[in-house]
Amino acid sequence: MSYTLTLQCGCVVYVSQNPATRIVHTRILQSKGLSCVNRRHEVGLRLYLWELLPPPSTPPCGGPQGDGPSREPTEGGAPG
Ligand SMILES: [Zn+2]
Repeated sequence: MSYTLTLQCGCVVYVSQNPATRIVHTRILQSKGLSCVNRRHEVGLRLYLWELLPPPSTPPCGGPQGDGPSREPTEGGAPG
């Protein structure tokens, strides 16, 4: 069996799947999207599974940058 997937960039990927094992063995870019800006996306390109997934959004860890000024402890000078 086979089907097609439309990526977020608009490209259409032809996916061929083994009906018995349900393992996808072929992923080929069938047609390029009009709004696709990915230069690698050309008709006939073999795609990997992770290339079909949507791009990851912003990383989960995004804390405020820049801590306070770190001052080294100054030695107290005893009056001599
Ligand atoms: Zn594309």
